[in-house]
Amino acid sequence: METSKLHAVILCSPGIGHFNPILELTNTLILHHGLKVTILTATTPPAFQLLHSPEDLNIVTLPPVDISGVIDPNATAMTQIAVQMRESKSNIRLALSKMDRTRTLFIADLFGSESFDLADEFKMPKYVYVPSTAWFLSLASYCQVLDKEVEGQFGDRTEPLRIPGCKPLKPEDTIEPMLDRHDQQYRELVRMGIEFGQSDGILLNTWEDLEHETLEALRKNEELTSLMKAPVYAVGPLTRVPVELTGARDSTLTWLDKQPRESVLYVSFGSGGTMSADQVTELAWGLELSGRRFLWKVRTPVDSGHADAAFFTGGSGEADTADVILGKFLPHGFLTRTSNVGMVITRWVPQVEILSHPSIGGFMSHCGWNSILEGITKSLPMIAWPLYAEQRMNAAFLTDEAGVAVRSKELLGLKTRDEIKNMVGSVMEENNPMRKRAKEIQESAMKAIEVGGSSHKALNQFIQDCMSKLQ
Ligand code: UDP
Repeated sequence: METSKLHAVILCSPGIGHFNPILELTNTLILHHGLKVTILTATTPPAFQLLHSPEDLNIVTLPPVDISGVIDPNATAMTQIAVQMRESKSNIRLALSKMDRTRTLFIADLFGSESFDLADEFKMPKYVYVPSTAWFLSLASYCQVLDKEVEGQFGDRTEPLRIPGCKPLKPEDTIEPMLDRHDQQYRELVRMGIEFGQSDGILLNTWEDLEHETLEALRKNEELTSLMKAPVYAVGPLTRVPVELTGARDSTLTWLDKQPRESVLYVSFGSGGTMSADQVTELAWGLELSGRRFLWKVRTPVDSGHADAAFFTGGSGEADTADVILGKFLPHGFLTRTSNVGMVITRWVPQVEILSHPSIGGFMSHCGWNSILEGITKSLPMIAWPLYAEQRMNAAFLTDEAGVAVRSKELLGLKTRDEIKNMVGSVMEENNPMRKRAKEIQESAMKAIEVGGSSHKALNQFIQDCMSKLQ
């Protein structure tokens, strides 16, 4: 590696949903801004997603850590990730101590901010990459204030929460950790929000046009700037572009090849989203009753435990066994009755390639931010079906702010087949206003990332600011 290049060390927390946006940031930094990058990660990346010419990319795999002795066995995925990152600190320190740190900056993802003291120790400027919305950053930073101001559970309040730069939101429309202040993930959130403010800068996977007001509030509203002095760079949407997969064409794509244009609803709940058996049954009925075409990535239901139950295993494809799900949980005769209009699949699928297919006309999503960006950049209207983490807030954003999605009135309980049928009908309708709005957002996203666009400029500014810190 040339020593003259600026070097970014990017710390990535576990989970494919965390790895993907880091990889997209890496690709952009290397290919369009001339940096070299080292990713520190415990996630095994899918090989096809790696850069074609990776001489400027180094991936250091962090050894797995045993957290069983320091965590509640029922802890949510968010708590598990936070604890894993904490317990990995000595391994991160070792990896940093061994590498050439000439002209090197440190970027932690949102779960990695606890390692900022290592960046200080090794004299690297420290940044955080929050691969999410400005809404989320505003809430995470402001949470330390709400934590002092509000007594009892947030959900017991009758009035919505006031978060600077965002629409007032009901607590159940914010993020999962806000629903129970006794749960460890809430304490982790408050800590993370405080640490974000101690960084030298914050990168967000959003863009000026999409969240202008909130970004302005993050920069100018004293309620936020008093907590967070660091500059905020909106550098998105950084999202994977479809690739020609090697080998035989995936069966989902060959099935889509045979469907009419914009006729298929893609249904998927991310790398780890799970629902109850009753909900899977209602969803199956809702899809069937809608009479629309669908491609459904289904996962084994869980009745006890969390909606994030498959977060650490979902990407492997081994957690889902087709016969168990298809035979036991789908309504009797469902597959036969829908065989002309539907495809049900239980394994890992090439989501970006599916969403880019001309036959896809809508997306039912759990509202992970990667999935949303992947859908929005294909101008797809959505059914927002949040399950955990910050997905409820993303769903509120998509429906109430961006105007590209519908969502159930039932925020936490069972969504019925009739409601699902109606949501599918409204999203798949040819001339619905959400489709028009999705197209406008897609165009503004493309403008933001082109050379001279707001996100391209923000990344250039970020690099200039890093260089002045390193002088
Ligand atoms: N994904 C995929 N195939 C699947 C399921 C998910 O490629 O079968 C990808 C999807 O394209 C997205 C990521 O996994 O990039 C999931 O990230 P997201 O932020 O949407 O949700 P999370 O899984 O982190 O909750």
